[in-house]
Amino acid sequence: MASHLFGRSAHALPRAVAGDGCYLIDAEGRRYLDGSGGAAVSCLGHSDTKVRQAMHDQIDRLNFAHTGFFTSDPAEDLARALIAHAPPGLSRVYPLSGGSEAVEAALKLARQYFLETGQPQRTKIVARRQSYHGNTLGALAAGGNAWRREKFAPLLVTCHHIAPCYPYRDRADGESLDAYGLRAADALEDELQRLGPETVMAFIAEPVVGATAGALAPPASYFPRIRDICDRHGVLLILDEVMCGMGRTGTLFACDQDGVAPDIVTIAKGLGAGYVPIGAMLASDAIYRAIADGSGAFQHGHTYHGHPLAGATAVAVLDRLTQDGLVAEVPAKGQTLVEALTDRLENHPHVGDIRGRGLFRGIELVADRDTKAPFDPARKLHARIKAEAFARGLICYPGGGTIDGVHGDHILLAPPFIIDDAQIGWLVDTLADSLDASIA
Ligand code: PMP
Repeated sequence: MASHLFGRSAHALPRAVAGDGCYLIDAEGRRYLDGSGGAAVSCLGHSDTKVRQAMHDQIDRLNFAHTGFFTSDPAEDLARALIAHAPPGLSRVYPLSGGSEAVEAALKLARQYFLETGQPQRTKIVARRQSYHGNTLGALAAGGNAWRREKFAPLLVTCHHIAPCYPYRDRADGESLDAYGLRAADALEDELQRLGPETVMAFIAEPVVGATAGALAPPASYFPRIRDICDRHGVLLILDEVMCGMGRTGTLFACDQDGVAPDIVTIAKGLGAGYVPIGAMLASDAIYRAIADGSGAFQHGHTYHGHPLAGATAVAVLDRLTQDGLVAEVPAKGQTLVEALTDRLENHPHVGDIRGRGLFRGIELVADRDTKAPFDPARKLHARIKAEAFARGLICYPGGGTIDGVHGDHILLAPPFIIDDAQIGWLVDTLADSLDASIA
């Protein structure tokens, strides 16, 4: 059947017709184990009874009430539930419809905060190479892969990119992980000195880097040092947890494991768990007060901001994650996954690193395990593995262009939190077979 959709030859893709637990089912009746939850979205699997019931209940009551006229129970309940679990100091929630919207809102909020506190010269943003923050023009400017940005230049926001914290690649011989973490964080200090710290409004980073680096987590020393540097220079710290948040790494907010609280945090993906498009930005009380005491309101808004069905669904998702204990299961399941990956792939000649936290795991693919030389990008190994795995009924998320779009490949795994041991075993065996078939 001809497709009228924009996109990568939609006509060549199987047509998804149903979801069942950890599986997606196509029109031919083939079942696919969702080893990456789409792109770290489907944390509850595809047929969660409680979430579906909450959606039915809400749609029977109220579908839409414009936020220019009303607040609503779902929006208020969602804000309350998020703040109850948020890092210290965050007191306000701004619901949106996805990750890029949340990042755009965060950048605008930072700008408005400095306008209202008499620092209009603070306009610059520092971000990191090998990061992804979304596809709208502001979020794209913040993202670190040059090849994504180049053809859309000039972008709308001025961003400066520093090296990411990448111990596997950049740690010196004999350097401890924590010493490297401090050194990597000092790249921010250097960049602030170069730019003039009084001209910078925010530093944005993913606590655990997802799509562009394959679940790359920093040593414990990194984010506390980043927090200190930001505080010393009055720069806001924005953490983008769109991919790594909502329990994916084993705590509801990933940054809880790094011992830092940001000024602004963005979330999406797992918040709607694939049932609704939703994102949110959480902001500190200090930012909220400055704006409340200044002009009075954050000058922002989208038509679907605070949507009741999206909100009620996210409240049910949060209940499942927190009250029903699904996030609490992530560390143990993540351990089972990483042990299976290590057993099967640790000595593989083309696996350089197995990394990540919780049910957010990356496998870095290399040409040579000893030198860790990257794979020839022209061979697009990650894309071949994706296709081999898909043909075997496994969905895994490929990432290429790990280093500024030039070298490296990885596979990202982010299965639903309801995955069981047998499914984890099958996932790892199938991935390993797909890797071998892709290299042969
Ligand atoms: N930030 C991060 C860290 C992401 O991984 C993504 C999506 N992959 C986004 C922002 C953008 O989210 P969305 O695709 O929902 O706009």
